[in-house]
Order: sequence, then C-alpha cells, then structure tokens
Amino acid sequence: MGTIAKQRTKQSKTKRRARKLQSAPNHELVIAALRRTEKPLTAYELLAQLRSRGISAPPTVYRALDRLISEGRAHRLESLNAFVACAHPHQGASAMFSICRDCGTAEEFSAGAIDATIADWAKKAGFQVDRAVLEIRGACSDCGRSRTLEHA
Ligand SMILES: [Zn+2]
Ligand SMILES: [Zn+2]
Repeated sequence: MGTIAKQRTKQSKTKRRARKLQSAPNHELVIAALRRTEKPLTAYELLAQLRSRGISAPPTVYRALDRLISEGRAHRLESLNAFVACAHPHQGASAMFSICRDCGTAEEFSAGAIDATIADWAKKAGFQVDRAVLEIRGACSDCGRSRTLEHA
C-alpha cells in the first residue's frame, strides 16, 4: 500500500512541474505585476502591463483579480478603484492601508486593536463580515517631510 501512495505522490509532483513549464496562469501574471510596484494599479494599468504576456481583455484581468481577492492575495482600494498585492498573510478579515496623496504609494499595515474592535462590534451587531478594508489618506513620511522643508 505504501508503494502505491508513493507512486501517486511522484505522479502529482511530475504533473505540477509540467504545469509550471507551461505559461503561468493569468492570476499569477496579475499578482506578479502587482508585486512589482508599491503603487496601487487600476485594472487598465494592469491590462497595459500584461498585454505583452497575452492578456488582452478587461474581463480576464477582472476574473484574475476576483480570484486573488477571494484568496486574500490582493486587495481592492475602493477610494482609488485600484488593486494591490497583499503585503502579508493576515488572520483577521480586515486590511488596513495608508495611501499617500502625493506619491500614490499604498502601504499595508496591521493593527490588532482595530481588528478586535471590528470583531467585537460585528459580534454585538450580529453582522457577518466578509472583508473590511480601511483606507487612510494623507502624506507618507517621505512626502510629509519634504513638504515641511518647503515651508520652512
Ligand atoms: Zn493583506
Ligand atoms: Zn508619499
């Protein structure tokens, strides 16, 4: 019995390797593009970047994004209508971002206290949270600093 199990493992490993040799699936191309930049990208910016990789239709990009978001590997920033790669695995359902109005970078951070507050409230309200994205707009430390220097 052990031998059969071993053979099966070997087979699936070979299959996995074969799949890797083929062109990467669309959602892998999309997440790779998001990871290359610190700025959130719109679906159309993604499309422009991925055209040379064979992705030419907006629905393909949207399908890939839907999948990545449901897998927790990417987030949608509502205020920008743009997408970012998830910076770290998170336990809670919420994702928190600081978005710089000047340079456009979006940084993901986690705050356990905010997670706990949302969980607490949801429990009391009987609300089932699918996901929560907190967006904080302002100036990042680099841009905030240069502005202070300008006015000095
Ligand atoms: Zn995340
Ligand atoms: Zn900035």
